[in-house]
Order: sequence, then C-alpha cells, then structure tokens
Amino acid sequence: MSSQNHLTKLLLASPRGFCAGVRRAIEALNSALKTYPCQTIYCYHQIVHNTLVVKDFEKRGVKFVNNIEGVPDSSILVFSSHGVSPSIRQQTIRKKLKTIDATCPFVNKTHLEVKKYATEGRKIIYIGHKSHDEAVGTTGEAPEASFIIESAADIPDIPYSTDSQVALITQTTLSVDETEMLKQQLRQKFPNLIEPPKIDICMATQNRQNGVKDLVKQGAQLVVALGSPNSSNSNKLKGVAEKAGAKAVLLEEIADLDLASLKNINCIGLTAGASLPEEKISEAVKWFKSQGIQEVAEVSVADESRINLPPVQL
Ligand code: SF4
Repeated sequence: MSSQNHLTKLLLASPRGFCAGVRRAIEALNSALKTYPCQTIYCYHQIVHNTLVVKDFEKRGVKFVNNIEGVPDSSILVFSSHGVSPSIRQQTIRKKLKTIDATCPFVNKTHLEVKKYATEGRKIIYIGHKSHDEAVGTTGEAPEASFIIESAADIPDIPYSTDSQVALITQTTLSVDETEMLKQQLRQKFPNLIEPPKIDICMATQNRQNGVKDLVKQGAQLVVALGSPNSSNSNKLKGVAEKAGAKAVLLEEIADLDLASLKNINCIGLTAGASLPEEKISEAVKWFKSQGIQEVAEVSVADESRINLPPVQL
C-alpha cells in the first residue's frame, strides 16, 4: 500500500481521546474490582461508550446490564459516566444494591438544572439523542416536564405553547455549532426561553471539536476520528470535520480503515473521541508511519492537564 498512496503528513489533534470524566469513571470501575475481588461487579450501561474498554472490563469479570431487575439483590452496581434517572436509583434501593456512582460531574450539573427548572414550574426542552443513556438519565429527573429534540425537524412537535415558561438544557457531547443553530430557532419560537448561564456542552467535547477544525485548517484532507459508533462525541467529530470541508471517517480502530479512502490524500488528520484509549491512537500513528508518513505534527488547541475531577467515592 505504501508504494501506492501519496501520504506525506499526519496531523495529530490535541487534546484527543480520554477526557477527565471518562478517566474518572474507568478508575472507579477498576477500584471497585480491586476493592471487592470476591464479588461480581455489575455496571448499569457501558461504563463509557467504547467497545474496546467495555470488552476489557468484561474479560475481567464485570457484568454490564441494561436492566436493574436482573441484578441479584445486595450486589455491587456501578452507574456509568452517563448518569441515571431517579427511577433507576429507586430500583437499586428496593433491591438493596450497593451503588458506586461514576456519573461525570458535568452530566450531574445538567441533572441539577433539570430538577431546578422543573421545581420552578418550567417546561424543559432538552437537545440530545433521544435514546442516549445520558439524555434518558437527565430528562428522567422530570420526565413529565421534559421534551427531547434531536434536530430542527422536532421543533414543531414540542407540546408547549409559545408563551410557556421554557428552559433549555443540552446533552454534554453535542456539536457546538449545530446546537447554536437550534437554539436560535428555539429563541424565536419561545420568547420566554431560559438558557443556563453557560452552555452545557462540556469543555472536553468542545476542545475535541475545535481540534478537528484546526486539523482541517492546517491542511488535513481526510480526518480519521477513532471511537465507537454509539459514542455521541466521537460521531460529532466526524460531522465537524465534514462541515469544515474535509473528508472524514469514524472508526473503532485503525484496522477498520478502508484503504481506498486514502486515494489522493497527502495530509491526514487524526483525532479520537473522549472514550478512546490512548494506545489505540498510538497504534494508528504507528500504522500511518508504516504506510510511509514521515512527518507527524501535533495540533494543540487546549491544555486539559489541569482538569482534576474528584475521585468517585466507593
Ligand atoms: S465528554 Fe464531558 S461530560 Fe462526557 S464524560 Fe467526558 S468530561 Fe464528562
């Protein structure tokens, strides 16, 4: 292949891969395995949306479940980084489960916003993916007062009158630009719309999207985004690259790359969603080098090294 392609340069986005919330959730599950070596550890939903991470934990004995009823009474159950609704918490109490809550603090913040607005008697519009664990968990704080929209096509279905007291909440891992467009339309339809003081999209998501835009600005013709298809933030990286004018693919790992997509490409951009382990990125860099790439340059848009989240309490 290396003799047939025209690859010369690899631009590597920074930050990329694991965010602070994902790292924290993985550490929590690792600690649970260490602390309770003789008990089965259950995890409600995938701890983070990455197949490789989940398979690794499964090999080490963790059982991932989508239904609390199947978990034996008094077991240990970890809540994933995406959070859970109060109704799930109630079920765990009924079953006397010992719970370890690895919900990302940035997701928890949106739970508090939903609770606050619902208590104030407001209706909530939540921009997010209807079946995503995070969206289900967050709107579950006040299901009777919440309506999820994914795109502008859903706006006519919002069951609130235009003069309602409406509050807006967004999923943490959306595309910043798409969300802004939707917000503008919602502001026009609902003049009383209240928005949180700061956008809910987390810095990790925003940094990775800004990084992709810079990859394209600096010449990447094809952006390879590594991440699982069910990872919201990884999917958005592909969309952001395309919108910036490059070709883009989302792959679980570099072995999945269709070599035909490299035709007429000189400069590749590489990034990864917030739930992808660094070794998969290193593997990809190594593979591109084996294809003849000589120049690897990092494109940095932000420093996340100072984001320290408190560890999960076991
Ligand atoms: S992407 Fe953001 S909200 Fe999601 S786990 Fe990472 S830091 Fe938390």
